[in-house]
Amino acid sequence: MTEIFFADVSDVQAHMSAIPSKWRECRLDRHILRKVDAGRYPDGDYWRVRECRRCHTRRWDDIDAEGYIIQKSYKYPDGYQLEPGSGRMGADSRAAERMADLQGDIAKANGQHLRSVS
Ligand SMILES: [Zn+2]
Repeated sequence: MTEIFFADVSDVQAHMSAIPSKWRECRLDRHILRKVDAGRYPDGDYWRVRECRRCHTRRWDDIDAEGYIIQKSYKYPDGYQLEPGSGRMGADSRAAERMADLQGDIAKANGQHLRSVS
């Protein structure tokens, strides 16, 4: 059995501080995809391409004739992902990402609440 190699938390923290804040939003909250193109293959399956408004990641979907996604792939902008070989994002890596973003928000708020809580 192959053990999964997860990204080092300190690498994730460094990456989060290096990328634009709008990319951090994508990494944490998903992309905002808009339609770019679509079509049909000769065998009857479909394809579509969508692109993120914030980070310009492109997502390709191959879809069967009944609407099920057969395959999906992403093309990310340079620097969006961790360095190749850094390992997979696991729960600890995601938590580090979330905390880096949260601390940035708190620093930006400069002691004021981002939104009043009553
Ligand atoms: Zn995005």
